[in-house]
Amino acid sequence: MSLFLVPRKLDDRNRNHYRIVRLKNKLGTNSMASGEVTLNGAVGYLIGEQGSGLRQIMKTVSLSRLSHGVRAAAMMRRCLNEALQVARHRRQFGQRIIEFPLLRRQLMKIMLPTEQALSVFLFAGHTMAAANAGDEQAEKLLRILTPLLKLRACRDNVPVATGAMEIRGGNGYIEDWVNARLIRDAQVGLLWEGTSNINALDVVSRAIPKVRAHEALVQALRARLDDIGALPGQFKDQLVKQLDRAISFAEEIASDQQQEDKARMAVSALYNVTSAILLAWEGTLAGQAGGDARRILLARLVLDHRLLPQDPMAAGASDFDKAAADMLLGEEPVGFDRVIKTLTSL
Ligand SMILES: Cc1cc2nc3c(=O)[nH]c(=O)nc-3n(C[C@H](O)[C@H](O)[C@H](O)COP(=O)(O)OP(=O)(O)OC[C@H]3O[C@@H](n4cnc5c(N)ncnc54)[C@H](O)[C@@H]3O)c2cc1C
Repeated sequence: MSLFLVPRKLDDRNRNHYRIVRLKNKLGTNSMASGEVTLNGAVGYLIGEQGSGLRQIMKTVSLSRLSHGVRAAAMMRRCLNEALQVARHRRQFGQRIIEFPLLRRQLMKIMLPTEQALSVFLFAGHTMAAANAGDEQAEKLLRILTPLLKLRACRDNVPVATGAMEIRGGNGYIEDWVNARLIRDAQVGLLWEGTSNINALDVVSRAIPKVRAHEALVQALRARLDDIGALPGQFKDQLVKQLDRAISFAEEIASDQQQEDKARMAVSALYNVTSAILLAWEGTLAGQAGGDARRILLARLVLDHRLLPQDPMAAGASDFDKAAADMLLGEEPVGFDRVIKTLTSL
């Protein structure tokens, strides 16, 4: 496979020999056209070496995969903002709907993946800036962060969009509001620039065994863990332990083709532990500077709900969830000491 530049017009200003067969009728992303083009007799100029097209285009694909992660994170933010806005104003049974315990739980299920994606995409963006400036370690780190974010944020975007529609109630289904469009547009992230399976295989069959990119991830996350000595030891130890587990699991899957069916599990574990450490780091730094420490609560929610085993029928297990939801769904920042007290007492 090779790359070609196919100009729209020829040197004599006539149109090149291509034909747009049709514009495709898609599920979503309708403001961006997708079409089928035939290039019968078209003039094209070879870019780079013949046969190196796939290698060349993968650079563009990586950037585009990252942009899909960013798009999914932004769409989830829109979903969360819409859901919070409705929940804070819609009244049913004499109360604002945000006061109902079941609805609070639904809101948290929208908030958690949204905040995870924010932390991971900013981390990836920061890493990309360093990689573009020639930092080889950052390039290695970006090599694994990109498929992690692409896979997980794009997948999370789908239930988040559906959840936000449900919170708007019947109006969420009506095109006067944005929710139906968000649901349609969320789906493309599962396909475009590689499905979830292809991104998972990229991690376990290339980024880990060939580039050893997971080593750069461990190094970057350990540096952040070193920054957050102010966190309670037990909580920090849990973050370290889950990082070690996720890395060992991913290495095991990457080294054994018989375990390919677990590739997505390995990628999700890496993404979740990365987000948990970033959230804890962000919350600690902000809290210690006298600001909002609530992102530490999100880190604990990632640990509890995405990384540690949970008994779905253990009634008392949700006490921390309720306390965290009270703070996270509130509109006021919460200081470091209060967050740590909640973290250690429940
Ligand atoms: C809106 C839109 C715009 C697009 N724009 C472009 C574009 O500009 N340029 C371009 O080149 N492409 C574009 N695409 C194509 C897109 O990248 C592909 O459709 C996508 O990568 C999936 O490939 P496929 O359609 O060949 O599916 P297939 O590869 O046939 O996949 C079918 C199913 O099989 C699974 N599968 C395939 N291989 C494996 C495997 N080894 N292990 C496990 N499961 C596997 C996939 O996960 C998927 O679920 C676009 C797609 C969309 C929807």
